Amino acid sequence: MMRFLGLLLAFLFVVPLIRSILGLLARAFTSFAFKNTSQPAGANPQPPRVPSGGTLRKDPVCGTYVSEALALKRVSSGETFYYCSEECKKKHLAKA
Ligand SMILES: [Zn+2]
Repeated sequence: MMRFLGLLLAFLFVVPLIRSILGLLARAFTSFAFKNTSQPAGANPQPPRVPSGGTLRKDPVCGTYVSEALALKRVSSGETFYYCSEECKKKHLAKA
């Protein structure tokens, strides 16, 4: 009889333990699978060299795309130019 109670107690202790482990494994597996399926590699290619947010403008000197917020701006006869660096701005000024 004592042996049966011991087994019963062990069973009551082990079953929830196994269930919680299986639950954790299932959760880990689903989050892993979700991560893999939600962002398929190469499905949504980003434009080249995007620093962060804002509208992208092309540097007329080197052709790099720079965000409007981070670019160096220069307004010339109503036209706004966006540069990736002071160097490109200088080069463009020298050309113009
Ligand atoms: Zn540049």
